[in-house]
Parts: sequence; structure tokens; C-alpha cells
Amino acid sequence: MHSMTELDDYLRESRELFEADLCELLRISSISADTQYRDDVLLAAKWVANQFRSLGFETETIEGSGHPIVYAESPQVENAPTVLIYGHYDVQPPDPLEEWITPPFEPTQRDGNIYARGATDDKGQMLTHVKSAQAWVQTAGSLPLNLKYVIEGEEEIGSIGLQKFLVENPQKLKSDVAVVSDTCQFARGKPAITYGLRGIAYFELRLTGPQQDLHSGTFGGCLTNPANAMCMMLSGLMDEDGKILIPGFYEDVIPLSDSEREQFDGLPFDEAAFAERLGIDRLHGERGFSTLEHRWARPTLKDADQRPKKKTPPKKGKWNRTESPGSSFDQPVTISSEAEPSRGEDLAAKSGRKRQRFGNVSPAVGDSLRSTDTRQHSEVAERTGLLKVLRLVVRTVLAHVVP
Ligand SMILES: [Zn+2]
Repeated sequence: MHSMTELDDYLRESRELFEADLCELLRISSISADTQYRDDVLLAAKWVANQFRSLGFETETIEGSGHPIVYAESPQVENAPTVLIYGHYDVQPPDPLEEWITPPFEPTQRDGNIYARGATDDKGQMLTHVKSAQAWVQTAGSLPLNLKYVIEGEEEIGSIGLQKFLVENPQKLKSDVAVVSDTCQFARGKPAITYGLRGIAYFELRLTGPQQDLHSGTFGGCLTNPANAMCMMLSGLMDEDGKILIPGFYEDVIPLSDSEREQFDGLPFDEAAFAERLGIDRLHGERGFSTLEHRWARPTLKDADQRPKKKTPPKKGKWNRTESPGSSFDQPVTISSEAEPSRGEDLAAKSGRKRQRFGNVSPAVGDSLRSTDTRQHSEVAERTGLLKVLRLVVRTVLAHVVP
């Protein structure tokens, strides 16, 4: 008879072996963004596929134009629910290398943690879902449900192949619940299931105007300075209470339920310590919502780059919209202007001086958002649309399972 104690014992006894397996995977430098590491990425895919094969799962390595997707299915259990697990085996490039205390692809234990590139994104979490299945199979002989795994190798470069895979393989994706392993737990001893994630959409705002630099003594005051125009436009996007003023911005946001708000509220979150860790005096967000709600459930609009200025100077007019879980991009973000379109070419650039444009805000701003960002919008719409469904599914499941 299979019991949780048996399972716990197995997990305890296997800890070192599981950690050794994790370290083996962490030693593979599966950097998807760098073609130099193509073989390593492939090696990681093979390694993951072998994990599934050793469990007796039907496993495929699906090749596309980029890095392969590892797909696996546990042996069929009739009349049992199917859980689809997503994860990725690729990692971000480890630069700058000099900031690593120990080398990124030499997993090292310090203070009870394993440090290596990909340890928590997403090799560790992904392997947890593999090893959980292994523990169950080893102690009970078979699983009580059906498991499907989609483990990709292009998450860090935009999941290009996955999008095609999603469209072409509805049968493989058919499941009652989908679990994203590429998430985290709130704190040690506080396991979590993430059931909603924020998506992201970028847009770039360009203000164009007269064809050359204009002397401020001669021309200043008779036309719009693009810096002022940019400030006016940006300042109109959000009010002092942190509310985004773009019409329709919150329209498809699923409101948090009372029980969700209570659960968020019940977590041991220390705002002061959080602010201190970020090096700021105080936090600021949409009025009426807590910091965790800001971070996990509310959409926002912000400058795309919030890294310290010493490393990266702020880029002009690059903004993004962070989507709340469940919302979609059916309506692209547009900003319109009544001003005249720009004329002529950029003489300053032609003459070899620093490229600079002045003048009116072009109405093309709204149009360019639509045209240049259509692909991104629709890609994110697909992902967030899927998440909306997942979130509703998990909510429904939890409503039935959790008393
Ligand atoms: Zn990840």
C-alpha cells in the first residue's frame, strides 16, 4: 500500500541522488541565445529526454528550426485527470562573468543553496516535477494520473518554436490542468502553485519634427520641444494614485477574489525589508492594492528599463505594458496625438552630428504602435489568452478540491 510516509522516506533517501542529477544538468551550458552553445543546448535536451525515458514515459525530442522541445507522456491511466507540465532547459547567458562568486556552470553549494546558472530558472523547478513523478512511480509502482511534459529549449529567446508547437499539437496539449514549472515558491517551507502570470508588451515611442537642429534663441518657444511633448504625453499616462489613464487599459483585467486577497495578505511579506533590498525609501503602486497585488495581479505601464543608471542609461521613450494575469492584447495600446505629421529628413543625422529630432508629435505614434508591434501583441495575446484559460481552469479545480 502506497502512503505519503513512504513517499517522504523515498524523497529523503534520494535527496543526494536528485541533487547530483540537478548538478549534472546545471553543468551543461545550455545557453539558447548563443549559437556557440548549440551542442550544449542539444545535450541538455537529450539529458532531459533520458530522464523521462528512464521513468518509462513515451518521449519525443521534437526538432524545429531552433532548439528542440522535449515532449513526454506517462503511461495512460483511464478515467484519471491529465496534468500538463511546462518547463525549459535553456538558460540565460551568464555575463558578466566577473560578478559570479563561483563559475556559472560549476554548481556550488553555499548556505544550503546550489548556485549555478539556471538553478532556479528553470532547471531546478523543472526537475522537481520530474523527480516528483519518479518518487511516485518508485514507491507506488504507477502514477494515479496522466502526466504530459513540454520542456522547451528556447524560453530565454522568446519561445519561437513553442508557438508553432502549440498551434500544431492541440492533441498533445489536451489536459485538465496545466502547471508552469518556471515559477518560484514564496519562501522556504511555503510551496506554491502559480496560477497566473503577467505577460509583457513593449512599444517604442518616437517623436519626430523639423528637419534640423533649431537654435533655441531664434526658434525656441514657437514650436513644441519634443522633450516637453514626451513629458506631457508620459505624464498623462498615469495619475498620482498609480492608476493608468489609457482608456480601456483595465477592461479585461480579472479582479482578485476576496479569498485571493486574503491569501495574499496572509503571507509573511515585509514591505520595509523588500524596499530596503531594492535600495529605495518607499514603495509606490496603484492605490487600493497591496504590494503583492501590484506585483502579481495588476497590470502596469512603465519605462522598460529600471536598472541602475550607472549600468544602463535610460532609453528614450521605450515603455512597456505589464499585463495582469488573464488579460489579453486584443486591443493594442495606442496613444494618439492631434499634432501635425513631421516633414523632411533628419539633416542633423546626415551631417554626422548626433541624431536628434525636434518638433511636433506625429500622429503616426499611434499607428506605428499598431503596425510595428502587431507581432508582439498577437504573440503575447496568445500566451496571455492561454493563461486566462489556465487561470480559470485552476480556479475551478481549486474551488472543487480545496474545501
Ligand atoms: Zn524561466
